[in-house]
Amino acid sequence: MVTVNENFAKLPGSYLFAAVAKKVAAYKETHPESEIIRLGIGDVTQPIAPAIVEAMHKAVEEMGHAETFRGYAPEQGYAFLREAVAEHDFKARGCDIAADEIFISDGAKCDSGNIQELFSLNNIAAVCDPVYPVYVDSNVMAGRTGDYRAATGRFDRVVYMPCREENGFLPELPAEKADVIYLCFPNNPTGEAIKKAELQKWVDYANAHGAVIIFDAAYEAYITEGGIPHSIYECEGAESCAIELRSFSKKAGFTGVRLAFTVIPKELKADGVSLNELWLRRQGSKYNGAPYIVQRAGEAVYSAEGKVQVAEQIARYMENAGVILNGLRSMGYTAFGGVNSPYIWLKTPNGMKSWDFFDLLLERAGVIGTPGVGFGPSGEGYFRLTAFGTYENSQKALDRIKKM
Ligand code: PLP
Repeated sequence: MVTVNENFAKLPGSYLFAAVAKKVAAYKETHPESEIIRLGIGDVTQPIAPAIVEAMHKAVEEMGHAETFRGYAPEQGYAFLREAVAEHDFKARGCDIAADEIFISDGAKCDSGNIQELFSLNNIAAVCDPVYPVYVDSNVMAGRTGDYRAATGRFDRVVYMPCREENGFLPELPAEKADVIYLCFPNNPTGEAIKKAELQKWVDYANAHGAVIIFDAAYEAYITEGGIPHSIYECEGAESCAIELRSFSKKAGFTGVRLAFTVIPKELKADGVSLNELWLRRQGSKYNGAPYIVQRAGEAVYSAEGKVQVAEQIARYMENAGVILNGLRSMGYTAFGGVNSPYIWLKTPNGMKSWDFFDLLLERAGVIGTPGVGFGPSGEGYFRLTAFGTYENSQKALDRIKKM
């Protein structure tokens, strides 16, 4: 008789956004007339930029003619896209990353969930707390963790690195064994970024301890301040200890189009084995590539027009971030993030629990955010708002919170 992967049973309750959706559905049932403003889930709202749409149209046309039709894409992604990425995202920033160290995919969510397959089940994963839930859940499903402890909100055999106000929302170097270290900067959910000198400490630590850093830079395009690395490869020695994840979702509004990439330098080895070769083997067996049309769309993100249009969109979201951050602060809230990222991380008033504040905001202002505790126990007492709505809705949400 078939049996299921018992590791799934270790996962508590429902996925965070499913829990939020359930509460919102219940609220809508009892308040059918209420106009809800969604500043919760991190989905974009602006349409795909014209230069990118044009490239997609062109690629669609090519697919309709025998001479230009394309079937399966190369397993690592088309060279035209990998070369554009290497040039614009890395060489332009002084990072020595070549096209054959870049693996195109259809999302950083899958890549961040799948990448743990490269490592032994004996390895220990270290994650920030609060954390983008995929890093932990994928390790749980793979059987790399122990059981979930409801009392602490933690899994056994996972190193949690608390990121709190007192440490500037930066993790501290782990005191215990940590083999695969997940870092995400600019951070989801706290919205805080890491300075280059701070990130260098992690690279040095990983090289000294034989650990691998999975650096999720999905929000790199939102960095507005100097001194903040856009890539971990800006740090010296990162090629021998770090994998970087990137996404076109928040950079160019591709959440529904689906495109991302993972960088694995050739220099990066574990047990003397090249992780670049291992991932290539893995992708060859399990993945058949992002669509040609979508990869052409990705290429257009790096065109002269595409760059300008995408930068304008990001600036618009960051304008919302400013409205939310400054608006909250002017009301007396303590709020973080929102300067190098589209996320605002606010401290709930009077030590309220995250979910209680969620209910209050929904009931009294019709605004949806995300309870901080959903990202890990250190997120308790915090709440995440996103800048991905419209300017009008961000303003309206703030006005309603003011009247609450
Ligand atoms: N990594 C982080 C930190 C994210 O917040 C998200 C999306 O919210 C992703 C990865 C997923 O990106 P993608 O849309 O490319 O799957």
